[in-house]
Amino acid sequence: MTSESRTTGAPEGVIQYTVSHRDRALAPARFGDLGAELAAWRSIFAGLAIVGQRADRYDGAGYGNVSGRVGPFPGARGARAFVVSGSQTGGRACVTLNDFALVRRYEPTLNRVESEGLIKPSSESMTHGAIYDLGPHIRFVFHVHCPLIWRAAGRMGLPVSDARVPYGTPGMAREIVRLSRETALLERGILAMGGHEDGVITFGRTPSEAGGILMESLAAAHRSAFDETGKACAQDAVSRRVRPSEGRRG
Ligand SMILES: [Zn+2]
Repeated sequence: MTSESRTTGAPEGVIQYTVSHRDRALAPARFGDLGAELAAWRSIFAGLAIVGQRADRYDGAGYGNVSGRVGPFPGARGARAFVVSGSQTGGRACVTLNDFALVRRYEPTLNRVESEGLIKPSSESMTHGAIYDLGPHIRFVFHVHCPLIWRAAGRMGLPVSDARVPYGTPGMAREIVRLSRETALLERGILAMGGHEDGVITFGRTPSEAGGILMESLAAAHRSAFDETGKACAQDAVSRRVRPSEGRRG
């Protein structure tokens, strides 16, 4: 069964583009290993609350998602198939392969995604696709919501997308390309999403590379807080409370 859906003007976390979706389970024999890798890192991020769902954050919408490109060959731009977190699964304590979807094609200019799975793909799939289109070496993309990194992005010299560009839109895909040309995005493997509160994306050749960049950046953000305030606090990674010295946006 294939269905199409579209929602516009939607709040954070809700699919904003046309999804042509086939309701069919991902085969464990083909996608099980990739699903296990993604579920492992997603569980680490959920434990840190940089993936999740809370009533007091983002109007209660689920946040954060992970993806991995389906190998071995990358395919053409717009068709670098990847497995990604299902829409609104951020709050789930446990995930199975059925909580992921396969994105076969993504067309930023047409604002359209073609997918399959028992669940529709994350609302941020277009942004994941735009990252894969930067180069065939990129195989994993992680998106989390971390206020500490996001607010420290300027001090840390991270590439930051234009605050006027909303997430999950054709504009965001263009913004990713601009950042790859004008900043050290491809070398650093991380960006902060200026127009998407607390949004951070890392990517790499392996899940360890993408996850390692994220963990190193979190440590750097804690160090930056320590330099400013004389202390580093575990809760600061996810706290939306803005201390006076951190009031500016990164
Ligand atoms: Zn997000």
